[in-house]
Amino acid sequence: MDNKQLQSYKQHNELLSQFIVRLSAFYEGFSDDLDKELQVLRGHLSGKPNFTLATVSINKLNRSLQHQELTVKKYSADTVSVLESSVKSLQQDLASDPELTKEAAQQLVTLNQPVDNLFRVYPLFQKALILHRKALKLSPTKSETSKAVPQSDSNQTEQEKQPLYKSIFEELNLLIESYAKRKPNDLQLVKVREKLSSGVSEDALLKSCVVVLRMIVQDAMSEASITGKVIQSLHNALGNINNDIQLSIDDTQSQYEQRKSGHTELYSHIENIEAVVNDSDSLEDLKAQAQSAISELTDTLHSQEESDKAGQEVLMATFNAMQSQIVKLQKQTLQYKKKLAEQLMLSQTDPLTRLPNRQAYNEKLAKSFVHWQKSGGDLSVAILDIDHFKSINDKFGHAAGDKTLQVMGKHLKQQLQDNEFIARWGGEEFILLLHDLASDQLKARLETLRMSLAALPFKFKKEKVTITASIGATSFTADDQSDDAFERADTYLYHAKRHGRNQVITDEDFPQ
Ligand code: GH3
Ligand code: MG
Ligand code: MG
Repeated sequence: MDNKQLQSYKQHNELLSQFIVRLSAFYEGFSDDLDKELQVLRGHLSGKPNFTLATVSINKLNRSLQHQELTVKKYSADTVSVLESSVKSLQQDLASDPELTKEAAQQLVTLNQPVDNLFRVYPLFQKALILHRKALKLSPTKSETSKAVPQSDSNQTEQEKQPLYKSIFEELNLLIESYAKRKPNDLQLVKVREKLSSGVSEDALLKSCVVVLRMIVQDAMSEASITGKVIQSLHNALGNINNDIQLSIDDTQSQYEQRKSGHTELYSHIENIEAVVNDSDSLEDLKAQAQSAISELTDTLHSQEESDKAGQEVLMATFNAMQSQIVKLQKQTLQYKKKLAEQLMLSQTDPLTRLPNRQAYNEKLAKSFVHWQKSGGDLSVAILDIDHFKSINDKFGHAAGDKTLQVMGKHLKQQLQDNEFIARWGGEEFILLLHDLASDQLKARLETLRMSLAALPFKFKKEKVTITASIGATSFTADDQSDDAFERADTYLYHAKRHGRNQVITDEDFPQ
């Protein structure tokens, strides 16, 4: 290989190595196997590159990426199969309504088709949910039960007697159970489970369905589908690069063979010249034979030059193809990374108040809890619930209710100090994480927040309105698991509501 060729070869190898380094950074932590293998590949391409081992490594990476892709597919298939059994049992309960039975049958046909992409799961959920809604409207005793709140045992038995209610109730429990295996510590799931176990009205059951479906879809959209797409594209591109490297190895090999046979020919010409010199007894004869030997030598050199040139062109074409693959892949990776960041942001933000949502809180809590267990100090959870919020909706309309939530959310965010975190828990409830506040400091801090909220000047339909909130808050103790503090804060909040609202109840009010 001549100098120029070697130079361009080195450049391309450097580009490939840089790309692998970026790829490794992008995938860091995604899977131990991928991390390790990308590191091995970097090793093969650094210093004096070893393309044979690099090819082995790329093959391993391909297999590993294929495996990840299968996991995403399996997750989609499992989710659809839960949905399918839910629609199936709903169909049995709908036997009396031919139109809905037909609709359920159509959905089952769609659900039976293979789902290779998580984005396709989303519309399936939507359709199933609409069917469940229609089915609920069909229920004969709707007017009696829809107003019910979690009720006494006798009333629950009435609901449970209804086949449709019972089937949706059972299916939802099944869905939660299978999802809880993936996220055993999710507070939202724990709450929905508790609600279901204490008996709920039809409306509340439907709301729980929506909560669970939204959670699953959001989770699936933000994590697996994007990752799945990146994996697919990366898989294809790595496959192409692998082929290119293989081609260039083959080319180099065949060039080497050609060169070797050219050299053998050259040696034999030189040996001929030596023999001629030794054997010749006349100068004329020697001259003629030497000329013929030199012309043979020139021909051999010429044809070798031609073959080198052709070889180099092939090599350059291969390297160019590799380079454009790499550039394309870099662009794609960047785009997906951006999309991933956007989706992550969206999936963790409440659209109405723009505050972090419950999922963001759960993640923040998990991290803060681990940190607190290691480093000690104080970690506190506060639940804030707007008082008589329903009456704002009733009196001034839902839009006024929404505006109130936005104003209060914005105000709370502005009041936030370092080391404090706030999220919208749902409805008219917010949740805060506070660090390093002793019990009396926690109470004082929350009192300040409560008073500042009560002082916000609201005006609806020319009427000045004071809106207050109640707060329940507690600090983690050594015996607490990550969701114990929430339960305690919720109990304190309930206490605050029962004893007049517009107040803060903390551990201070219940000394141990
Ligand atoms: P309490 O003082 O006991 O907390 O009474 P409350 O009226 O605040 O509580 P309740 O749980 O009875 O009602 C909460 C209401 O919040 C019911 C629901 O319609 C309303 N709500 C929940 N989310 C939203 C929302 O995003 N926008 C609007 N406008 N209303 C909402
Ligand atoms: Mg509430
Ligand atoms: Mg309230």
